Amino acid sequence: MKVLALILAALAGTATAADCGPDKLNTSRTLTLKREGAAYGANQHAALPLAKGEVVLTFDDGPSLENTPAVLKALSDQCAKATFFMIGQNIVQQTELARRVVREGHSAGIHSDTHPHLASMTAEQQLEDLKRSRAAYKTAFGVETPAYRFPFLEETPALLDALKQANITVASIDLGIGDWVPEDTTAILAQRLTESLDKAGSGIILMHDANGPTAKALPTLLQVLKDKGYKVVHLEWQ
Ligand SMILES: [Zn+2]
Repeated sequence: MKVLALILAALAGTATAADCGPDKLNTSRTLTLKREGAAYGANQHAALPLAKGEVVLTFDDGPSLENTPAVLKALSDQCAKATFFMIGQNIVQQTELARRVVREGHSAGIHSDTHPHLASMTAEQQLEDLKRSRAAYKTAFGVETPAYRFPFLEETPALLDALKQANITVASIDLGIGDWVPEDTTAILAQRLTESLDKAGSGIILMHDANGPTAKALPTLLQVLKDKGYKVVHLEWQ
């Protein structure tokens, strides 16, 4: 039975890949960044070199056993690639799921080790958190993380400096959907995404794969992008 299940899963995967036609959102191109200490995201830094209507999908706070698989399915169903900023402790606890994210063609960076308010910690503590999250990433993926997103987008001078020295890209955002309220419905998230897109026109979208309502809403959110004619750009690093 186990063999049969594996064969069926393999066939399902093939069917999905073959189905990436014009009716899907798809991934329009890959933007490959150098491993250097640059910082992107118009919220706090320079915008990525994107055309109007181009968006980068990013997901924070995972991997989550409860919600990340649904996010992966929604992305796969629409042939869309994203970047996941993972919490170091979650990588340690869900290493296989973290590896699955990357195996499915997505890119991954880190989002601290324990998601603390870094600004309330000493520089030494901040550097220790960075060290632990980098080690978790390296253990899981065999390479250094190419990118970092600050928890709560709260940047600190000590870590900005350390990331630059380590040639790790700082990934801020251009727009979000405020998806950290557990009561949010799919309709609310879709409305917020529409409003944010109308305002920003392009850029890095922040979402949370660890958040149940986001995972549930993602098929609808991706359809919003498709219906409005947005193009997904996949971020990778050299
Ligand atoms: Zn976060």
